[in-house]
Amino acid sequence: MLGLMQDWPLLCHRIIDHAARIHAGREVVTRSVEGPIHRTNYAEIRGRALKLAQRLDRQGIRLGDRVATLAWNTWRHLEAWYGIMGIGAVCHTVNPRLFPDQIAWIINHATDRIVMTDITFVPILEKIAGRLPSVERYVVLTDGAHMPRTSLKNAVAYEDWIAEADGDFAWKTFDENTAAAMCYTSGTTGDPKGVVYSHRSNVLHSMIVNNADALGAGSKDTLLPVVPLFHANSWGTAFSAPSMGTRLVMPGARLDGASVYELLSGEKVTFAAGVPTVWLMLLQHMETDNLKLPDLKVVICGGSAMPRSIIKAFDDMGIEVRHAWGMTEMSPRGTVGALQGAFSHLKGDARLDRLQMQGYAPFMVEMKLTDDAGNELPWDGKTPGRLKVRGPAISAAYYRVDDDILDEEGFFDTGDVATLDSYGYLRITDRSKDVIKSGGEWISSIDLENLAVGHPKVAEAAVIGLPHPKWGERPLLIVQVKPGESVTREEMLDFMDGKIAKWWMPDDVAFVDSIPHTATGKILKAALREQFKG
Ligand code: ADP
Repeated sequence: MLGLMQDWPLLCHRIIDHAARIHAGREVVTRSVEGPIHRTNYAEIRGRALKLAQRLDRQGIRLGDRVATLAWNTWRHLEAWYGIMGIGAVCHTVNPRLFPDQIAWIINHATDRIVMTDITFVPILEKIAGRLPSVERYVVLTDGAHMPRTSLKNAVAYEDWIAEADGDFAWKTFDENTAAAMCYTSGTTGDPKGVVYSHRSNVLHSMIVNNADALGAGSKDTLLPVVPLFHANSWGTAFSAPSMGTRLVMPGARLDGASVYELLSGEKVTFAAGVPTVWLMLLQHMETDNLKLPDLKVVICGGSAMPRSIIKAFDDMGIEVRHAWGMTEMSPRGTVGALQGAFSHLKGDARLDRLQMQGYAPFMVEMKLTDDAGNELPWDGKTPGRLKVRGPAISAAYYRVDDDILDEEGFFDTGDVATLDSYGYLRITDRSKDVIKSGGEWISSIDLENLAVGHPKVAEAAVIGLPHPKWGERPLLIVQVKPGESVTREEMLDFMDGKIAKWWMPDDVAFVDSIPHTATGKILKAALREQFKG
């Protein structure tokens, strides 16, 4: 017997329809790439997204065709998402921080037909355009007055282009499993891999994110997604905010501490989401002038492990820190670290210990831990294992790659090593390729890094395993000190001594001017291993 309910495909554009109907006047505020602050609302965003959809349709963009964006978080980029997806085309967000060769590889692999770009990235595209045969037209996300002179093929200013459409147009309808968007993983090993989201997975993922203990921003809130729309599906914020009528503040191209503070404070932001580096820059800026953020309620931080010092700084200000873990393949939300009832009374170090964990999985994300042979390991908070995940917004395959990426039970191996406790709280101890195997046991590079950055003179720290004749591998601590400070090897080791097991102590400490990062802000350990080999 089947249920007798309506068939209502879960399509992304239904979210902007809802926002335009119920939360029409809710603002979307942007620090525009051209400079000034720009204000619009969900009703206008929907109207302009429809014009874009109509213009794309007239251009011959059809169901399944890929349209790329290389753009900051702005209202125009948000319109592009809905406009592209609303005709069943695939919105391919390209990370402009990648090397130009990688950008070319990704655009060619996706065979994008149109590229929509901010002014900022026109010079990068001009360098590689000759190698992008599938691209028929470049749309620059600006108006005629700011349109740069460019050699890009059929280049047109976005405002002029959508002005050619009258907006008398309806979204297309199609199966909810139709591809809506794609995003390539940064490919720190091997070629980048294309993750393809469906309309259904995006809508369900927005429900995951809307969960009160996940992001949980409502219609009275203002959200600042510092996380870019081009990074891991913008952590779902482009769907969750309009679906809830949350006011959006888009930071454009300026993500430094002073610029982020100005928006948080001036626009009375209540929720903010970003990677640890962003919060580090913000806190440093606030510290110098003893600034406050009385409106900010919740900071979501993920992408890499959140240092304890950042957690403590926000917690001391009465701002709730939610440490989140996820990955591009998971749309990307995996866990969020809101304190469950059993822990809400915690104070001091016990509280920070709990907040430093990566949180627990919301409904629709299932997890298991296994050893290398695939045997399940206990959720005892101690035993590290390979973390595997299953759910309706988690990848089942990569674009144009034949390999089977799921195990017999349909779980995807995240490549992370972690522990889970009986409450489901996750603690990421490493990437499986970064874990240090010493004497047959595992040393967590993340734990050592967290400890090292707790030293007041340390700006950033990285730990890598170096080959060792007796132990297999031993940890090397690599430190970048804060400007104007100096630290010795002995000072560093003394600082760590007693806080970790003796055999976890780094064998040596190296000092560098700057620690290299990937395009998504993670420490580039492959480069460090190369630099320090031998
Ligand atoms: P990339 O394109 O660089 O792979 P992702 O955002 O998809 O970008 O990276 C996902 C990986 O980032 C995770 O598998 C994990 O290793 C790491 N990561 C994400 N959030 C955290 C966190 N809170 N703590 C530790 N590691 C994290």
